[in-house]
Amino acid sequence: MSETSRHERFEEERLSALQQLNLLDTPPSESFDRITRMASQIFNVPISAVSLTDRDRQWFKSRVGVDHCSIPREKAPCGQVAETADVLVISDFARDACYADSLLGRSGIRFYAGAPLVTREGYSLGALCVLGTEPRSVAESEVAALKDLAAMVMAQIELQHAFGRIDSLSGLPNRNQFLDDLADLAVERPNEDRLVILVDLARPEQISAYARVMGPARVDDLVRDAARELRRLVGQERTLYHTAATQFVFLAPQDVQQDDYVRRLMEGHQGARQRSMTGMLLTSAIGVTVFTPHETGPQDVLRALYSAVQDARTSPDLVSVYSSVADEAYQRRYRLLQDFGPALLADDQLRLVFQPRIDLPTGRCIGAEALLRWNHPVLGAVSPGEFVPVIEHSPHAQAMTAFVLETALVQARRWQEAGRRLVVSVNVSAANLHETSFGNSVQAVLQRHGLAPEHLELEVTESSVMQDADEGRRQLDALAAAGIRLAIDDFGTGYSSLAYLQDLPVHVVKIDQSFVRKLADGEREHSLLRSMIGLSHDLGYRVVAEGVETGEVAELLKAMNCDEVQGYFFARPLEVSQFAAWPQEYERSDRCEQQSGV
Ligand code: C2E
Ligand code: MG
Ligand code: MG
Repeated sequence: MSETSRHERFEEERLSALQQLNLLDTPPSESFDRITRMASQIFNVPISAVSLTDRDRQWFKSRVGVDHCSIPREKAPCGQVAETADVLVISDFARDACYADSLLGRSGIRFYAGAPLVTREGYSLGALCVLGTEPRSVAESEVAALKDLAAMVMAQIELQHAFGRIDSLSGLPNRNQFLDDLADLAVERPNEDRLVILVDLARPEQISAYARVMGPARVDDLVRDAARELRRLVGQERTLYHTAATQFVFLAPQDVQQDDYVRRLMEGHQGARQRSMTGMLLTSAIGVTVFTPHETGPQDVLRALYSAVQDARTSPDLVSVYSSVADEAYQRRYRLLQDFGPALLADDQLRLVFQPRIDLPTGRCIGAEALLRWNHPVLGAVSPGEFVPVIEHSPHAQAMTAFVLETALVQARRWQEAGRRLVVSVNVSAANLHETSFGNSVQAVLQRHGLAPEHLELEVTESSVMQDADEGRRQLDALAAAGIRLAIDDFGTGYSSLAYLQDLPVHVVKIDQSFVRKLADGEREHSLLRSMIGLSHDLGYRVVAEGVETGEVAELLKAMNCDEVQGYFFARPLEVSQFAAWPQEYERSDRCEQQSGV
């Protein structure tokens, strides 16, 4: 880059820094006037000013002894102070080749001293200056005092920033300002639909990783860089707000075509990002929403943007338009997550139901799968298909399994005491297999209830074992060594092969319902299931078919030598009270009636 263009670029950045301070053309303020008064007293001169160097004028934020509020930048000594960021003293204008015929020189000024006003980022905004009508020299101590006063002016500017509506890092208006401006918009243009856009620079973990490697100051640089690029992209006439550490928001011009505008923005932003953050892997995402100012409150607009940008993170083009449906679904998931903790403590929300497992050759019920039920105080019955995946990925995962295990074993103990030998199956999540003490805690619960390990079977899915193959493997080994039976649930839906499973200490394969239900479809489905059963037997597994809904399917499975079945044809998951009556009835009659259940 040539010296001139470097200089021009720096001057643009300097001007941008100045504009973002929102100081230009603001009314006088006593906190600045106090400092200029002090400066003129120290130097014993009639004129003093806080003079900001705009593109082509020197604008006075504060002034003593001058009437006008700006002079042209051309040949203004404060302009030189801003450019050089250095103290300038002109002892006698009449003898100064450069300034003798300047506006100030011609108006009778003979003396000037100015100290630069420099931001933390190194941009010089202008000068704190003193001017006199007599030539005068300057003592070193006076220069030091002038510099101190300039530093006080900067401290005052920064203070305003901190308390104001400006983000101190980017210098952009912050979230408070955005919310205020939206409130104004609701008054000024209540019925005009507006498109608003949120750009999130990176995933939080990317920022953390960058901070860890490069240090937090570099993260600040990065955000500042991005803010500058975004400002350029958004255009001078639109306000860009810095609403959170890595998030920026702005309103699109009115009457733009939404898709076009967002696409162009993406392209521009992508380019800008690559330029400003070369070598950095940052994934920006864009959330968009349209709102009518008098209908949607400022906080709700912001919330809609957060919702959209979070959805954008999982969309292939990293852009998402706010959808109330997606938002409601998210809110429901969030609510389930929030309410699960209290549910674990309440005694009337969570309970287990038990679905009988039938030994096909004898037709006897030999076990039961424990299935969790949640009766939410407001939402009513929530299916485990909905809440289990949410809870499994939360810190409640361990507590959920602990609850199920405890409740299931209490029940197993009661059955045992009533003289019924049943193996109870409990579903286990991936998170449990990553607990290093899982194997031990399961054994401890068995012991506490005085139950032998063969009363318990744990169901794991292929994918949960594979999530952390090493730790998962260790836990399975420990459980199997303790004599607890392990089953692969939903077999056939994961990516693992029987060859992989063969390596695991698994005893039972539960063939997924999808294969079983298709059995009525035709010969291909028969062959598939027959070979799944055959192969599993060859490898030494006991085979359970899930989701048996008709007698015909049960007969087919029997003919295929399937060992065990479970399904609505025999029984739906049953409440404990229903279960007490059920298996005896089943054993008495050869005909299998579909049971009412949960
Ligand atoms: P899963 O472990 O494969 O459980 C079998 C599911 O199939 C149960 O649904 C059961 O009610 C249903 N089912 C049984 N027979 C039939 C049938 O003939 N036809 C049909 N269409 N469905 C049948 P449920 O109780 O809604 O549970 C769904 C899933 O939620 C479970 O699938 C399991 O992945 C999870 N889940 C349920 N309880 C627990 C639990 O206590 N812990 C964990 N980690 N997951 C659980
Ligand atoms: Mg299961
Ligand atoms: Mg299953």
